[in-house]
This record gives sequence, C-alpha cells and structure tokens, in this order.
Amino acid sequence: MKILVVNCGSSSIKYRLFDMPDKSVLATGMVERIGEQEAALIQESGGKETRTVQPVPDHEEGMQLILQALTQGPGAVIESLDEVGAVGHRVVHGGEAFSESVILDDQVIASIESVADLAPLHNPPNLIGIRAAQHALPTPPHVAVFDTAFHATIPPVAYTYALPHELYEKYGVRRYGFHGTSHFYVARRAAELLGREDIHCITIHLGNGCSMAAVRDGKCIDTSMGLTPLEGLVMGTRTGDFDPAILFYLAEHGYDLAALNKLCNKQSGLLGISGESNDMRTLTQLAGQGDARAQLAIDIFCYRIKKYLGAYTAALGSLDAVIFTGGIGENAPSIRAGCCGNLQQLGIALDAEANRTTIGQEGAIQSADSRVQTWVIPTDEEGVIAGDTFTLTKDLA
Ligand code: ADP
Repeated sequence: MKILVVNCGSSSIKYRLFDMPDKSVLATGMVERIGEQEAALIQESGGKETRTVQPVPDHEEGMQLILQALTQGPGAVIESLDEVGAVGHRVVHGGEAFSESVILDDQVIASIESVADLAPLHNPPNLIGIRAAQHALPTPPHVAVFDTAFHATIPPVAYTYALPHELYEKYGVRRYGFHGTSHFYVARRAAELLGREDIHCITIHLGNGCSMAAVRDGKCIDTSMGLTPLEGLVMGTRTGDFDPAILFYLAEHGYDLAALNKLCNKQSGLLGISGESNDMRTLTQLAGQGDARAQLAIDIFCYRIKKYLGAYTAALGSLDAVIFTGGIGENAPSIRAGCCGNLQQLGIALDAEANRTTIGQEGAIQSADSRVQTWVIPTDEEGVIAGDTFTLTKDLA
C-alpha cells in the first residue's frame, strides 16, 4: 500500500510517498512559492532530482503538479494514482478535540475549522491542502495527524495559565504545544535505544521553530510552546518567553495589534537579537568572525534551553535521557555543547569528540561518566504520519 504524506503551508506543499508497511520512501519533494510566477516543484525519487519551474496560482494546481510528477516524466514512481491507498495530512492545531490521528470526514474538518483562530498561520493552509488533496484524490481515505496530539496527556497543572479560569472555559486559552509528532518519534526511539519503556526524557526540537518536551514513560507531561507556537524557546524569528507587559508598553508607544504580532512572530528571536539572520548556520559563521550580536543571539538561544533542561528535570523528578533533533539539534555540535555545558549537577555531560562527529545521524554524545544519556536522533515526522495513516486505513479496503 502506498501512502502520500502532505504538509501544506501558506505558500508551499511538502510531500513524501511511502511504500508501506516497510516505510520505504519512493519520492520526496515540495512545491514552493505557490501564488508566484516562479513557483517550483522539486522532487527526489530513485536518486534523480526533478525540477519544474512554472506559475502555480494556488494549492489545487500545486497538488495537480505533485500528482503529475509522481505518475509521469523522468521522476515518476507510480503508474497510476489508483496505487495511492491513503493520504496523511499534517495538521498543526487539533485543539482539545483530537488526542490522536483520525480519518478525515466533514465533522473532523468542521472541528479543525473551529480551532483555526488558535493557529491562524497554520490551520487555514492545512485545510486548503486537505481540500485540494481530497479533490485531486477523491477515492482513498485521508487522515489528519495533529502536531498537538502527543501533548494531550499534559496535566492541567502544566497546561493551565494563571489567567481567569473562564478564559479557558470560554475560549480554550491553555497550553496545547506543537511539534508533537517529532517529540513523540524521538522519545519512542530513545526508549528503544535505552532498551526500556519507562524512561524520563527531555526532547529538544530545534528547527526554525523550537520546542522542548518532558516525557515520562512515553507520555508527554509538559512542553514549552503554548496556546500558539510563540511561547518557550528562542526561535528563528519568534521571541519565545518574555514579559507580556512589554506588549502593553509598546502599545502605549504606538504599536498596533498587527505590528505587535509581526514583531513577536517574524522580527524577533535569532533574527531580532542579531539584526542579521534567523539561520543558525549564518549566525555561527558570523560569530566565528567576531560578530558580537550574532554571538549574543546564540548565547541567549542556548541559555534558554539550559533553563528548560533544569525546569523539566525538576518536573520529571529524575532524568534518563536528553534528545536533540531538528535541523539545529541534528547538525550543530556547538549549539548542543552550549546547551549542555556545566550541567553536571543534572547528570548531563557531553563527550566533546562524540558530539563533534555526530552530525545529521543518530548517535550517543554523552561522556563515559555522564549519568544521563544524551542522543542525537534525526526526526521523522513524515514517517509517523505515514505510520498512523497506515494503521487507521489498512483494513478499510
Ligand atoms: P524547519 O523547522 O523549517 O523544518 P529545520 O528543522 O530544517 O527547519 O531547521 C532549520 C534550522 O537548522 C536553520 O536555523 C538552519 O540554519 C539550521 N541548520 C541546518 N544545518 C545546520 C548546520 N549544519 N549547522 C547549524 N545549523 C544548521
């Protein structure tokens, strides 16, 4: 059975075609710059790269281009769309309605729509992608896999904000958390690597968005992102934690709602502090050349993670493993070292050589005398989506 995994953003569709149940990847690709004249589809399949540049006015046409690339031309991997047995969709916000993946029907779509205002940047494009895919592939079942679902086990003490309680009851204002499929995957993989289910671990996902999760016996008990993906760690362009009174202060200085939203989500984080870039590779390079603001951005980024390591060790009561994942977590030894320095008190100590050489691959990086195991585990969100989609649909045919 072949499963197409779709991850739809506001101007892009990322996709991967899996052959199940062994999860071998037949093709992976993306359509980017949807809505522009110079949109492009880039696909890798069978060791070949296909690249098509053409105007793609909307997601419907983007989806058609993907299905064409999968079935026709030099990169084709299937003869007919009938071979696609199911489609799995990444959906960012499931609100409180979804604690696991579900087969999409009208009721599920209505529920996703009802929480769209909690994730205005993510859920509307996810829904556009679902509709475009359902339109292009009307026969196979479609499944929604939620970024929030893994965090459904977080208890009220960790998800409730110290705001008037009716805001939770009336508007659902609470911590939801995101990157759930990534935290789930690396926590489960860590349990496999440590050889037991009952581990206490802290998972650290560092990509453009960054978040951490405290996981006890496979269940998430706390996470750093909140009602929206703005809270917690310093990110590429997002503030993470800061004093909300700064917003009142800026409002008194003329910032309106739209400007504050843009400031916190698009102009802050690594970009805001450094004034140069949101990309960790660029910042590491600049810091190496003596750029003090780039260095400060990196230091604040690592310091925030270190504080959360302490907080989550306290929340878990004891700690067996720390896992780094995401583009930065998997590829940046200097950042991992910056997060884990002087943490012997928590039982965390890295082996400098193992850390330096573990790049883009799975491996343990703790020193011989470290009480806590520290691992780099490349994430596999698409694989989790394919797995859930397969489990839910394999007996339907
Ligand atoms: P997304 O959240 O968009 O999926 P990724 O997980 O791909 O993003 O992570 C993107 C981040 O990873 C960027 O900040 C990028 O600079 C960083 N990154 C990728 N490779 C490296 C590297 N070798 N060294 C440092 N940072 C890296």
